[in-house]
Amino acid sequence: MKGDTMREQYQRLGISQPVYQYGAEIEASLKERFARMDETAEYNQLKVIQAMQKHRVSAECFMATNGYGYNDLGRDTLEEVYASCFCGDAALVRPQITCGTHALALALLSNLRPGDELLSPVGKPYDTLEEIIGIRPSRGSLAEYGITYRQVELLADGSFDYEGIRNAINDRTRLVTIQRSKGYQTRPTFSVEQIGALTAFVKSVNPKVLVMVDNCYGEFVERREPLEVGADMMVGSLIKNPGGGLAPIGGYIVGKRECVENAAYRLTAPGLGKEVGASLGVMQSFYQGLFLAPVVTAGALKGAVFAANVYERLGFPVIPNGSESRHDIIQAVTLNTPQGLTAFCEGIQAAAPVDSYVTPEPWDMPGYDCPVIMAAGAFVQGSSIELSADGPLRPPYAVYFQGGLTWYHAKLGILMSLQKLYEAGLVSL
Ligand SMILES: *Cc1c(COP(=O)(O)O)cnc(C)c1O
Repeated sequence: MKGDTMREQYQRLGISQPVYQYGAEIEASLKERFARMDETAEYNQLKVIQAMQKHRVSAECFMATNGYGYNDLGRDTLEEVYASCFCGDAALVRPQITCGTHALALALLSNLRPGDELLSPVGKPYDTLEEIIGIRPSRGSLAEYGITYRQVELLADGSFDYEGIRNAINDRTRLVTIQRSKGYQTRPTFSVEQIGALTAFVKSVNPKVLVMVDNCYGEFVERREPLEVGADMMVGSLIKNPGGGLAPIGGYIVGKRECVENAAYRLTAPGLGKEVGASLGVMQSFYQGLFLAPVVTAGALKGAVFAANVYERLGFPVIPNGSESRHDIIQAVTLNTPQGLTAFCEGIQAAAPVDSYVTPEPWDMPGYDCPVIMAAGAFVQGSSIELSADGPLRPPYAVYFQGGLTWYHAKLGILMSLQKLYEAGLVSL
């Protein structure tokens, strides 16, 4: 291998000279931005280590418990670590929380009571929340329990409609939900600072209202998290950022003790709360994943910014654009044609460490009105902190792209997507 160049190494994986060269130019232009992301990762890495030291994480914390899981040191200590790291009073971090949607449902169903009203001041929430709330009628929804819902749209420029929000808050408003990430919408993702301003406004109208932040995809992207700017609860998934790619399952709720306790009694049972819930041997991956999460998140973030710049300069609309500041790890690229969308996803798949030999095909996914194509070759099924892409096969043929456990893998995935578009004659370099 002596004398091998980086270009030859990429060539072995199928990246042609023009694609490699174009990617190298884009990467060179992002040097300063990447350095700032590394600084955020460094800051957050120290935050995590400090929390682990403070709560005296030890080898005993990694031991598996089973059955009821009474006195599970690893589980209880991890919850202290999460609370410290994210500046809450308490945390619930469990493998029994099956995904992000489950964590959000738990936070809402446990902190709202019949007669209460839930308010989203940031427009429509993430798709899977529609059934939790009962926007789309669903078994077990908040609506079935007599909990009503109101929504205030964002203004045309994506900012908060403060007047509308003031008018929507009433005697029954108990909880305000703020989704940090845009998810699959085209609005901008909110910064922690913006979340702070909105939280302060809500509390100025009625200090008793609880503010919950759907923090999915946002953890460790900035130095601060929503609890540091006044939110009462933040909620997310361990197969996204905070699991660092190692957590095989799980979700978390961090915040005010009262809110977390409510969630614990709902997750298990009244009277039991946090005292039960065996950790079944996943604790080491939860700790180690959290430890790696700041660096993993930075890698995914670099991939998103790289993709934005690669495709923006080729004339494809991208959200966020190549230069704007980032508050989550999702990147949307509008590819304009079904061939473009398919080629992009084929590239992401071909670059994966797992299942690289399969070809993604569009399929009729439940809940969608057109076929959806998805690409992922992940160690953990459905993990979206790992490199993955998906998009509905309908105009404007936008792909949503996220993750990458390492920046180098994210880079290979994006170059491979470009390679497939290049081979299909959809771009010229
Ligand atoms: C991913 C996500 C969810 C749901 O998480 P799942 O683990 O897919 O159930 C909720 N809200 C936002 C903003 C998300 O990105």
